[in-house]
Amino acid sequence: MWFADVALDIPTRALDGCFSYAVPPEVAASFGEDPDAVRSGLVGMTVLVPFSGRKAIGYILGASEEPPRGLDAGKLKMFEQVLAPSAFDEVSAGLIRWIKEGYASTLADAVHPFLAPGQSVRVRKNDQTGHWELVQHAAGPRDVRWAELAPDAADFVPRANASKQKGVLKALSEGPCRVAELEALLPGASSAIRTLASKGVVRIFQERELRELEETTLSSASAKRPEHLTEGQKKALSAIAAAQAKGAGDVVLIDGVTGSGKTEVYLEAIEKTLAEGHSAIVLVPEISLTAQTVGRFRSRFGDKVAVLHSRLSQGERYDQWDLARKGIAQVVVGARSALFAPVHDLGLLIIDEEHEASYKQDSAPRYHAREVAAELAKRRGAALVLGSATPSLESLWRCREGSFRGAQWTRVEMPERPGIAELPAVQIVDMASQFSHGNKSIFSEPLQEALDQVVEKKQKAVLLLNRRGFANFLMCRECGCVPECPHCATALTYHERTHSLMCHSCGRSWPIKAYPDPTTRCPNCGSRYLAQFGVGTQRVEDELRALLPDNVTVVRMDADTTKAKGAHEALLEEFDNAECAVLVGTQMIAKGLDFPEVTLAAVINADTTLKLPDFRAAERTYDLLEQVAGRAGRGEDPGKVIIQTYWATHPAIEAVRTHDKETFVECELEARSEAHYPPFSRLSNIVLWGKDARQVRELSIECAEAVRKKIGSRSGWEVLGPADCVKAKVEDRYRRHVLVKSPVEADAGRLLADAVASLRKPHGVSLAIDIDAYDLL
Ligand code: ADP
Ligand code: ZN
Ligand code: ZN
Repeated sequence: MWFADVALDIPTRALDGCFSYAVPPEVAASFGEDPDAVRSGLVGMTVLVPFSGRKAIGYILGASEEPPRGLDAGKLKMFEQVLAPSAFDEVSAGLIRWIKEGYASTLADAVHPFLAPGQSVRVRKNDQTGHWELVQHAAGPRDVRWAELAPDAADFVPRANASKQKGVLKALSEGPCRVAELEALLPGASSAIRTLASKGVVRIFQERELRELEETTLSSASAKRPEHLTEGQKKALSAIAAAQAKGAGDVVLIDGVTGSGKTEVYLEAIEKTLAEGHSAIVLVPEISLTAQTVGRFRSRFGDKVAVLHSRLSQGERYDQWDLARKGIAQVVVGARSALFAPVHDLGLLIIDEEHEASYKQDSAPRYHAREVAAELAKRRGAALVLGSATPSLESLWRCREGSFRGAQWTRVEMPERPGIAELPAVQIVDMASQFSHGNKSIFSEPLQEALDQVVEKKQKAVLLLNRRGFANFLMCRECGCVPECPHCATALTYHERTHSLMCHSCGRSWPIKAYPDPTTRCPNCGSRYLAQFGVGTQRVEDELRALLPDNVTVVRMDADTTKAKGAHEALLEEFDNAECAVLVGTQMIAKGLDFPEVTLAAVINADTTLKLPDFRAAERTYDLLEQVAGRAGRGEDPGKVIIQTYWATHPAIEAVRTHDKETFVECELEARSEAHYPPFSRLSNIVLWGKDARQVRELSIECAEAVRKKIGSRSGWEVLGPADCVKAKVEDRYRRHVLVKSPVEADAGRLLADAVASLRKPHGVSLAIDIDAYDLL
């Protein structure tokens, strides 16, 4: 008899934990006699269980032939049905428990990332079979219906008015066809096909189909293997080899300037990993998971690569995930969640641009991919490689200390670009002085001159604007008031094309005439003198077109122009194919693009991120500026970088100008250490929100008290708040938070989960614990 530990998918913390069930003998028997085979067949399964008079979905986290201790095996209920085959193994089950504890999530929330893409958490009874099944979204394996002519179709003569049937027969006379495709060409075709099939004229058959991913045609996407590796690349590869040989989850941080050949190191290391019979997972920020990045992996490893990101349909994601599970794909390239892909025999984990904030998940389980990857590498005996031109202060600090949580952390520097490509010269332009000298344009004089050069030499330029919309804010020139969303307390953004004000917290928008009243007066002082403040990508695009000759291609890339599937790729191709072009865009253009003809990279306004109320503001600004600067001068022509700012003396901007990262890192580490911020502490954020301001306020006070009480006299802990969040109101919900600092080695997840468990939460108020928070707004 087999017994299973089952985590129930019931969204209440009170029922969190594992429950024991007996395994139906026929289910266990289906895996044969070998106990190891039975255990690995059972662990990771989704099952239907009886639970206090109803049915619940559960996930098997452990299985054993020993009855659970302290329980009467004879009285245990049996689970009723298998809903989905195993999606993860015992090592993953261990990691699930680690995520639950470390990030204060429920067990079911910690299981979800490990399930097959699109697997639903609801069941429905199939009336025909009497069995329960998971409510499927569009995912799961896809069987496609095809139609073809039956052998004696030639004898069949349709009725004169059966035009649909005639159409179908004509189409099928040229060969078999997908039913859906026919239906699209010829509405009503599928019912005609059914009629014809019932007459024996047409045969319908099903075929399993793998959703093919679109291939890129970008010229720069192929990865030619370099003839010689640089010294830095060799050092990195031998550090990785050493970490892999040790098999204890050691970490190698590749701190290499943009274009120093980090991706090339990944490719080499993966090649070696595959040759040894192991698999590799590569995480790339969602935004840089372009055809270009994927293309480089595909051109080296072909069909061994599976790709996972959010722009794929659920069905496509399922297929890619399944390729990994079957062991057909040994390299998975994907966004954050690819970390959980069921590859066989993991030998290498790679996180590119490891400093990116998007590696922190902002819904439960609120894990950080870097931390989970480090734990996963340890548990699988694999190595973890982190790469960045601007590593996080957390990773840099761990490398200085030499170890973290029992693993060794090693930093390898790659300060140079291979071959002749040189780091570009960086020029900082003080916009205040431009303004006082009478230049009121978006483009400073040096930038205009540089653009002229690009046009003259028929090269390419990339312009970053860290904003969206035509002009960011409307500001009252008389009182300085900026109209805010009445639901979210967020400054509204002005969009010129639709002539509306938009809230970027909740997505609401107002025609400009209707806000704040039909005459468009300042909501604060009634002045009519509202003016645009700041600029958006549309305005930069328009002014560029006015400034540049007609034969220069201007491509705009931002959230608006990349909404449609494939739009991102199409825009990059347009830029790639043009002879002379300027790419204008938001952050998404700063990452991962590698076009050798780009000789100018410019930042229109560097100050926006510096002003955020966040202890990482300087680090983030520095990261972004370095990334943009890295877009220039990847080819033979030395690049030029221009940064426009009102704050030229800021250390982050100074560091980009002088290419002196060390000084900035020292300065930043000192500030963090003094204020006891990460990496010298852990910072967790408990956020509370609800429609009733008083309830939220009261619970936030109780919450802070409960945490303080739980901490007691522990040293190195500190509770800040409760306070209103910066985004004090979103979607009509009031938001307050309690910040908690704790020592680096503290088990913050467990302590905060315990503290919060004692609260009596009123209906209508939500609470989330965000361990090692990144979003503090
Ligand atoms: P990163 O990932 O650090 O930005 P890449 O791996 O994309 O850098 O390399 C930048 C460019 O240099 C690419 O075009 C790549 O093909 C080329 N490259 C990388 N390594 C070498 C090398 N050892 N010799 C010559 N060219 C190289
Ligand atoms: Zn005003
Ligand atoms: Zn809003």
